[in-house]
Amino acid sequence: MVSRTTADYEAMAIAGCEVISEPAFWAGYDRSTEQGFYDYFSLLTGFEPQRAAKFGIQHYTWMCINPKEAEDIGLGQAVIDLIPEFLTKDNVLGIGEIGLNKNSKNELEIMERHIALADEHDQLILVHTPHLEDKLKGTKLIIDALKNFSNLKEERVIIDHVEEHTVGLVKDAGYWAGMTLYPESKLTARRGIDIVEKFGSDQIWMNCACDWGVSEPMATPKAAQMMRQRGHSAEEIDKVFYQNPKSFMAQSPKFKLG
Ligand SMILES: [Zn+2]
Repeated sequence: MVSRTTADYEAMAIAGCEVISEPAFWAGYDRSTEQGFYDYFSLLTGFEPQRAAKFGIQHYTWMCINPKEAEDIGLGQAVIDLIPEFLTKDNVLGIGEIGLNKNSKNELEIMERHIALADEHDQLILVHTPHLEDKLKGTKLIIDALKNFSNLKEERVIIDHVEEHTVGLVKDAGYWAGMTLYPESKLTARRGIDIVEKFGSDQIWMNCACDWGVSEPMATPKAAQMMRQRGHSAEEIDKVFYQNPKSFMAQSPKFKLG
C-alpha cells in the first residue's frame, strides 16, 4: 500500500514491533511519469517515517521502480536516475523491491540496471519473485542476473516470496530468503513454518504482506505464536523474527535499533 493506516501502526506497536522495512511498491495504479515516483519516494523518506515514529516505530524503506511498472524502459531509466538522491536519506536501506513480475525481457533489463545501481552505490538489495507458474523460472532468471555481478556479495541480497520449490535454490546460491505471509492466498504462516522446519532457520525471514489484496500487518506475530504452539523454542522464534532481519538489515550502516 502507499501508506499504513494508524490502526495498523497501533496494532504493530502493541505487538512489540520496533522497526518496519517498507519497500517501494505499486501505488494501485501505474504512474505515468517519473515525477509521480519522485513524490512517492519523498513520502517514503519524509512523511511516512514521521508517522511511524509517533507510534514508537522506526521506519526504513527501499527505492526502485517495481517490476509491475517496469515494462517501459524509458520511464524505468528516468526513475532509476532519480534514485541516487534518495540513497542519501537516513531511512533508505537499499534498492527494492526490484525483480520480475511476468518474467518479460524489459522487466529483466530494468532489474539488471537496478542491480548495477546497487552495486555502484554499495546498497543492500531486496528482490521480488513472481507468483504461481512464473515463480520457478523467474527465480532462476533472477539468480542468473545477480551472479553476473561478480562484486556483489550474496549475503547482501534477500530474495523474497520464496516457496517450497524455490527456497532451496535461493539459499544454496548464498542469498537470504524472504517469505511474505498472506492470510489466505500465496504463502501462509503454516507453510512458512513448514519451510523453516525443512530448510532450517539460517538466512531466512518472514514478513507481512501489506498490499492491496487481503493482507495484514500482524502476520508475523501470529506466525510466531503458531511456531510456539508447534513447540519451537523461544530462541528459534527470536532468530527467525528478530535476529535474522536485524542481521540482514544491519549490513546497512543506517540501520539502528532503539
Ligand atoms: Zn513482493
